[in-house]
Amino acid sequence: MSTRIGILGYGNLGKGVELAVKAAPDMELVAVFTRRDPSSLKIATEGVPVVSVKDVADYKDKIDVMILCGGSATDLPVQTPEYAKLFNVVDSFDTHARIPEHFANVDASAKESGKIAVISCGWDPGMFSLARVYSNAILPDGNDYTFWGKGVSQGHSDAIRRIKGVKNAKQYTIPVESALEAVRNGENPELTTRQKHTRECFVVLEDGADAAAVEKEIKEMPNYFADYDTTVHFISEEELLKNHSGMAHGGFVFRSGKTGADKEHNHIIEYSLKLDSNPEFTTSVLVAVARAAKRMNDEGLKGCKTILDIPPAYLSDKSGEELRAHLL
Ligand code: NDP
Repeated sequence: MSTRIGILGYGNLGKGVELAVKAAPDMELVAVFTRRDPSSLKIATEGVPVVSVKDVADYKDKIDVMILCGGSATDLPVQTPEYAKLFNVVDSFDTHARIPEHFANVDASAKESGKIAVISCGWDPGMFSLARVYSNAILPDGNDYTFWGKGVSQGHSDAIRRIKGVKNAKQYTIPVESALEAVRNGENPELTTRQKHTRECFVVLEDGADAAAVEKEIKEMPNYFADYDTTVHFISEEELLKNHSGMAHGGFVFRSGKTGADKEHNHIIEYSLKLDSNPEFTTSVLVAVARAAKRMNDEGLKGCKTILDIPPAYLSDKSGEELRAHLL
């Protein structure tokens, strides 16, 4: 029997889950839930109902895993504990500093309902977390490095948009090539924030805005830009839409470690992602995790989990025999 999936929240991730479920041979989309007026949403799949979140409880026994596609800032801290009371759930909560707190809240709900809730899945946190944990376990004597980009940072783009005189903006985070090379060469460099990433901003100004003042405010903004080498380009709205509306992203996780009686042998583990579409990749991870969540709950497990708690074979639609024959 196929795994019955619900999507809660129909933004970029909601649309990505819809595509990933379609691509999965063992999954079926049951319904899309939204806080907006359901009749205002046109989803891509024919024959699948769009339902108000108010009626979500009616689907309690019709959905195996609800994939929560709300935003990390304000939606998921409320939605994940709430819907774990009714369903096995998967989310992509990516505020790293608040993961322990989110875990505790969700764990209480899921333990009470007897469901599984897998939080913080995607690529970072998600696949990058797995890469960090595998490589740390294997090379205990070493250094970790994570680089992001080139890709758009939503938080930094929003911060620029809040500046007076700015109409629209996109900000790219870009890894510094020489830093990547030093890590790859096993030099184990000590890198400051400035040495790891640069920031490139494309800004559309309001009529009559003072470009020099805006540029200064961006470059001096604490936490966001002050610690980085930042370039600012002023462009037209048309150019922003034409050249900067893509959702590509990616990055690198490295572990550079030593073994040997005299630490004479160097090993570099490099995991990299080059993503044409951040949301479509993220949701491909969420859907694989949903498969695992159902399996774990079917085995009687309950409570909050992260991707670190999932046996790799549970993510795959292939049987143990197939995995051992072809992918082991
Ligand atoms: P969106 O802003 O596109 O969607 C978030 C929610 O907003 C939706 O669930 C939807 O809820 C609502 N919404 C969407 N479009 C509209 C609209 N036009 N009008 C009103 N409401 C709308 O966010 P994303 O899908 O891009 O990202 C969600 C989260 O995923 C991010 O906050 C980020 O933290 C996380 N993420 C995690 C990654 C990881 O690697 N772990 C990677 C990428 C993202 P509703 O339908 O109920 O209105």
